Amino acid sequence: MPELPEVEIISRCLDRALAGARLQDVRVRHSGCLRCSDYELRAAVQGKRVDRVRRRAKLVLLELEDGALIAFHLKMTGRLLVTRQEDSELDKHTHLVFSLLDHQALLFRDVRKFGYCRVFASEAELRAWPFYAGLGPEPLELDAAEFVGLFQGRRGRIKPLLLDQTVLAGIGNIYADESLHLSGIHPETPADAIGYEGYVRLYTGLIRVLQQAIKAGGSTFSDFVDANGTAGSFQNDFLVYQRAGQPCTSCGSALERIVVTGRSSVYCPVCQQNPRAG
Ligand SMILES: [Zn+2]
Repeated sequence: MPELPEVEIISRCLDRALAGARLQDVRVRHSGCLRCSDYELRAAVQGKRVDRVRRRAKLVLLELEDGALIAFHLKMTGRLLVTRQEDSELDKHTHLVFSLLDHQALLFRDVRKFGYCRVFASEAELRAWPFYAGLGPEPLELDAAEFVGLFQGRRGRIKPLLLDQTVLAGIGNIYADESLHLSGIHPETPADAIGYEGYVRLYTGLIRVLQQAIKAGGSTFSDFVDANGTAGSFQNDFLVYQRAGQPCTSCGSALERIVVTGRSSVYCPVCQQNPRAG
């Protein structure tokens, strides 16, 4: 699933391609991806200029000239691509085709069909959407003290808390595992056993890994590409994610894989010890 860095890359890329462009129409080829009616979507986009494309959590948001917004959640395999509009190129996984001038089109494609698109008439309506209203803060907008404060008084283990979008927005399995490794924290460590300095290390590791991933164009595995079809390269820099059994880059021990609340987690048993284990 694309996480904060990948969605940030897609949003920046779409902003460059679409800011100032006018949407002519949208063709709905599979309405199952809509969390609004076909009519609402068409009425919202027809003839409207795109002012800006931005990201919030893992959502891509197209801001239109009249204040309406089109939100996309890419989930597992959703993709947004700007291409030449050639019908012959559209496969069965292309669910939405937004036509632009000059035979260009924005395509929403999703093989596994978990992704969705939804229209909001205004920023106020977007903010009133319970999912949006419940999102935690953006990690890259926090300072260390604010980050530490998010975990104060929390119960449970650190890995599921990092993945909880109501605690912190945009983090998924990749950047949770990478930041826990960078900070030397075992994924099953209870939140109240980490302490102030541990959280500052986690903050530093998380910010570093997110910034590096954005710089590298995101991580490409399965089929993530940006809106121009360019792959990212951060997958070449993974320290632990998908590296179970391989040596830790710090100490050489074999990395181990465990399942924490249903999510695969890879960590180094030497560098990342649980203070409350056993
Ligand atoms: Zn190690």
